[in-house]
Amino acid sequence: MNRFLRIYLFAIALPALLLALFGAVQMHLIREWLYWMELEGLRDRAERAAARELSSVRDLLDQRLDRIVATPDYESRLAVLRELAGSDRFVRAAFLWREGEGCVWPRRTGSTEEERRFLNRYESLFGGRVPWVPPDPFAPAGAAPEPPTRGYRAWASGDRPELLAWVRTAPGEIAGFEFEKMAWLADLQVTGFAPAVSLRGGNGPLAAELRDESGAVLAPSRLASSWSPRREASLAPFFPRWLVRVAPAEGFPLAHSGERLLLVAAAFFGLLLLSLVAGGFVLLRAARRERLDSLRKTDFVSNVSHELRTPLTSIRMFSELLAEDRIADPERRRRALGTITAESARLSRLVDGLLDFSRLERNRRKYVLESVDLGELLSDIQQTAADGSTRHASFVTRHSGRGCTALADRDAVRQIVLNLLDNAVKYAPGAPPEVSVRDAENGTVALAVADRGPGVPPHAAKRIFDRFYRADDAATAETRGSGLGLSIARRLARGMGGDLVYRPRTGGGSVFELTLPSS
Ligand code: ADP
Repeated sequence: MNRFLRIYLFAIALPALLLALFGAVQMHLIREWLYWMELEGLRDRAERAAARELSSVRDLLDQRLDRIVATPDYESRLAVLRELAGSDRFVRAAFLWREGEGCVWPRRTGSTEEERRFLNRYESLFGGRVPWVPPDPFAPAGAAPEPPTRGYRAWASGDRPELLAWVRTAPGEIAGFEFEKMAWLADLQVTGFAPAVSLRGGNGPLAAELRDESGAVLAPSRLASSWSPRREASLAPFFPRWLVRVAPAEGFPLAHSGERLLLVAAAFFGLLLLSLVAGGFVLLRAARRERLDSLRKTDFVSNVSHELRTPLTSIRMFSELLAEDRIADPERRRRALGTITAESARLSRLVDGLLDFSRLERNRRKYVLESVDLGELLSDIQQTAADGSTRHASFVTRHSGRGCTALADRDAVRQIVLNLLDNAVKYAPGAPPEVSVRDAENGTVALAVADRGPGVPPHAAKRIFDRFYRADDAATAETRGSGLGLSIARRLARGMGGDLVYRPRTGGGSVFELTLPSS
């Protein structure tokens, strides 16, 4: 396995994945916990709903007890009690009780059937067998508690819960009434049960209903619900066996926050995984690049050595022959000297190229920008080629280009063009390259060098501008080169604010187009 891949897997990917796994498990726990919290919230809201109902019943009771307490004497008290028992819909029966005497109103004798049943229901209380205030098992021993002046007594009669409210009206005297719970329930039936405490918040509205101990619905919910999950709270102490039941209303399920959390976590882990994969990919690519780069550098050294050796060998050979006077024919001597000159020039170019490259690599190259007439520059190059002082074969100019001026460094443009021509001659030796100059869009001028050679293989097209890169096709295999020419040319072009691009030529061959800002 590749060393980088191993490092990546064991140092980064594996620990990160373990961490993500751990995080996912934690996420699950947190979600469970959130759900539990929401259920707790539901319980809390059930209790608040029950408390609200209790206090509304207590208000009903207290209003009436207050009226009884406010009476100044026995007669008026009796009048109020009679009125309550007779016409108040929340009062089923009323009474006045005296210590030692029991119920003084209504009395058993002369009472109606209804009154007799009432007296029977509370016989143990009125008969003194059950205290008005049940003893508090938690009261501290010895301390005599202040007896309360009013009380509410849940009373089971058969299996029906009743509620009695009473108040001390005079020493040894108690008055009170039995709550008509049916009137209260009827109201709830009509309006639908919806506790007034805000049951919103949390995850939305709640359905709430009132049930008795057998599960029968006493007051139905105003909102629909599947009643799962649900929580209940008792209506103790008024109706200890009745329950307020709450559940999320339809369309507002619980565990929203859990879902949201899960979504966020999934996005987070997804992103983590993506960045892991992307990071690995980038790392491996960088490693591959580095390896290729070092391979290319080795190639480069052997290529450059060869490039240096070829001219050196001829220079040495011819200079030795001349030094030893072994060429007698003046014409051949002249040719030998010509070769030495040409090969030295080639050497200089090569060394200049290398120096240029290292300067460019270190960003040391300085550009002297001036107005450069591209047409003039081309004919200048052509002239030099004709003199035989460079190895560039002559080329064909498609458009004279005179008048097309670029704001550029003359030497740099010249070098770019020479590099391009050099390549055209090298890779497309059949016909002379064609050079054209034109005014291009956005205030630029373009100079294109086109040939009818094999072109650049598509897979290499993007890379030919990389340093040391040489395409691995037949045409390249047959030639020598350092893989620096195009890289230098593009850097120079961009250094002057222009660019150099390649495109395949229609009908076969390559086009290299240099664009520069026009002046
Ligand atoms: P070198 O010519 O020294 O190899 P370059 O940087 O000048 O380096 O070119 C890089 C590669 O681009 C060459 O190896 C060759 O494969 C390809 N190339 C450049 N010019 C041409 C061209 N005119 N036709 C076909 N291929 C070319």
